[in-house]
Amino acid sequence: MKKIIISNFKMNTTPSEMKTYSMALATKTSESKNQIIVCPPFTHLCVAKQFLDGSKVSLGAQNVSSEEKGAFTGEVSASMLKDLGVEYVIVGHSERRTKFKETDRLVNKKIKTALANGLKVILCIGEDLASRQAKQACAVVKKELDDALKGIYENELEGVIIAYEPIWAIGTGKTATLKDIQKMVELIRKEIAYLYSDKAGQQINVVYGGSIDIQNYKKIISLACLNGALIGGASLNVDNFAVIARENY
Ligand code: PEP
Repeated sequence: MKKIIISNFKMNTTPSEMKTYSMALATKTSESKNQIIVCPPFTHLCVAKQFLDGSKVSLGAQNVSSEEKGAFTGEVSASMLKDLGVEYVIVGHSERRTKFKETDRLVNKKIKTALANGLKVILCIGEDLASRQAKQACAVVKKELDDALKGIYENELEGVIIAYEPIWAIGTGKTATLKDIQKMVELIRKEIAYLYSDKAGQQINVVYGGSIDIQNYKKIISLACLNGALIGGASLNVDNFAVIARENY
């Protein structure tokens, strides 16, 4: 089954390292049947584009401004990314929600701006440990989903990939159990069906992220309910990421 395999470099590596990484990834994944997306820092996008052109790998950014243009020093707009050949953007990553205080409202605005400019969105949602322990995980995920998708039309959902990323599993070496992933993916699909239609619930792409590595990737990504994975730390090693990206699931 064809899967979507996404990297998130976070704030790691340099543009020079991106050149080597891109060349290696393009070669190592030339036979892959999966959809591969790399999301390096903004500073790497030009070099990544140059060395991934003509390969199986698409380019994503890790963030985007909610504003179209203007006096927003330090921000990067959706049209700038689009012009560079970027196809995807990660929105609502828990590190942006917690460390940069991004609200559900801002996430919603970023999604609208990204989609309006022809970018596809990788929308991250997921509960923290306290919510899970308080048995509130489902409620948190539902609310994040509802708020993020306010005012988004059903025909725009083909430009949205939902990444279920329990915060307690990101960068911690702890993954959610297969049962928990299945349960949450089911809930996400049900909520999409409730908000839009049964067809939308079935067709929406849902990936999992949280401490996927070269040891555990196969059993997680092979889950039939999942369309793929978002991989942080383990994507920094091009050999490992390429193995995950070219696997037959
Ligand atoms: C992430 O940053 O989205 C992520 C899933 O990180 P890690 O794979 O390192 O847990």
